[in-house]
Amino acid sequence: MCICVNCQFVDRCIAYYQVETSHQKPHRNLSPDFQPRQPQIRVHRQPAQMEFDIVNCGSFQAQENLSNI
Ligand code: SF4
Repeated sequence: MCICVNCQFVDRCIAYYQVETSHQKPHRNLSPDFQPRQPQIRVHRQPAQMEFDIVNCGSFQAQENLSNI
């Protein structure tokens, strides 16, 4: 599972933009400007494509509304 959906930088993140592309999802932001530190990517090989998820990241910051869960 991609950790980015719980990260406060998800709307600005260049790495998450690539995740959206690999999953063929619409982009939250067409001009992301945040470069994360050392994102660790897990690659899922599909028959017709490869999908990426971020499984660890040095820039991860939990969204405030999720930090008390
Ligand atoms: S966890 Fe890292 S790669 Fe994912 S949105 Fe946050 S900063 Fe970007």
